[in-house]
Amino acid sequence: SDVPDQALVNSDLQSALAEARQAYADSNPKSLDRHREACEAMPGGNTRTTLHNSPFPLTVVRGEGCRLWDVDGHEYIDVLGEYTAGIYGHSHPVIRAAIDKALNHGWNYGGRNENEARLAKLIADRMPSIDLVRFTNSGTEGNVMALAGARVFAQRKGRSGATKVMVFHGGYHGGVLYFVSGGSPVNVPYEYVVAPYNDVEGTRALLAKHGEELFAVLLEPMQGSHGCLPGDVGFLKMVREETKARGITMIFDEVMTSRLSPGGLQEKHGVIPDMTTLGKYIGGGMSFGAFGGRRDIMELFDPTKADSLPHAGTFNNNALTMAAGVAGYGEVYTPAAAAELNARGEKIRQRLNAICANDKVAFQFSGVGSMMTAHATSRPIRTAADIAAGSQDAKELFFFDMMAAGIWIARRGFVALNIMIGDAEGERFVAAVEEFVTARKALLQAK
Ligand code: PMP
Repeated sequence: SDVPDQALVNSDLQSALAEARQAYADSNPKSLDRHREACEAMPGGNTRTTLHNSPFPLTVVRGEGCRLWDVDGHEYIDVLGEYTAGIYGHSHPVIRAAIDKALNHGWNYGGRNENEARLAKLIADRMPSIDLVRFTNSGTEGNVMALAGARVFAQRKGRSGATKVMVFHGGYHGGVLYFVSGGSPVNVPYEYVVAPYNDVEGTRALLAKHGEELFAVLLEPMQGSHGCLPGDVGFLKMVREETKARGITMIFDEVMTSRLSPGGLQEKHGVIPDMTTLGKYIGGGMSFGAFGGRRDIMELFDPTKADSLPHAGTFNNNALTMAAGVAGYGEVYTPAAAAELNARGEKIRQRLNAICANDKVAFQFSGVGSMMTAHATSRPIRTAADIAAGSQDAKELFFFDMMAAGIWIARRGFVALNIMIGDAEGERFVAAVEEFVTARKALLQAK
């Protein structure tokens, strides 16, 4: 048979990985020094779990356009785009000008500023589900507040038994709302019903069983962190119909996916939730999050009403974030720019998958538009089981090969394109993947 023996493939994969790891360590001595310094005052040298990778993470010293430079002087094309927050590339001139202008006027007022209402209006005009919106400092906080609001909404509608929230296996809504490995010890202590993503019958059955107890269903219309697992439109529509019939608040976490069409994935798919959470790029690349939705739900937070819910936060209307957000979301990532970036991403992903198919390797890219994730499997990516079937070692080898080729990518194979990536840089990314597939072909065989 021409299929290599799996034990041999595995041992070859292990030695290729060890070699790649060593080459990475050898070419990044200054980053190693910085990592050792960081370990003196931070657990594991880390303040953001996602940015840890073995043997040690690189230290970035500069970004410009679609490029990054590390402390050892290597140059990279940035296809990670700060896990979707970096959609504008680095130091976009329009956002830069807005921040400069804001800096000239001071930035901690303890008062309302002129940009917050502008940014709110831009969002409400673009996102179909959002009548009213509130700002937070992160996507995590947006989700925490959306859940709190949905819970009180259910209580005030007389659904006092509704104390649980349905989430999905693989869902990520922030470090305290994390269901990738079935639940996290640091999750906020709600009672969760964890349903199988994209499984229409399984989820419908859980909604029937727990319907009375659920105040919210929280889900991403495409699971991002879990590996760009697109939600089937039929599945999302079923959740919409069932939650509506049962009076459960449906919350779309579009912290990542709002970039995928002018009005988010909800607009593209025509599935409109009751509430939506946002974050990442909408704040122009500054710390940002938001939760919004139907007027009757969001009015719970109206401070002119009796029994209104508190929603505080010193930095909710941060002058720099609001200025950067109005410039970025309003002037740079316009509906036309969103259409263009996602069309470009769609083409690049198709080309990458054609390369993988051509060489018959167990490697592929799932995603929608400008977001994609590499998977070292030949199974079509439709469920959590398909993602789990991928080889983590092959994916780690991909990471090291990309870094060595000057492509800045996430350890987990995640890609979020930014608008500064031109044709030449897009070609370099495709060429680097092609080289990986060709060079590593023997190691990328289906189990
Ligand atoms: N929701 C989703 C879907 C996310 O991908 C993330 C972050 N990757 C968050 C929420 C949390 O956002 P933040 O990191 O700004 O707290």
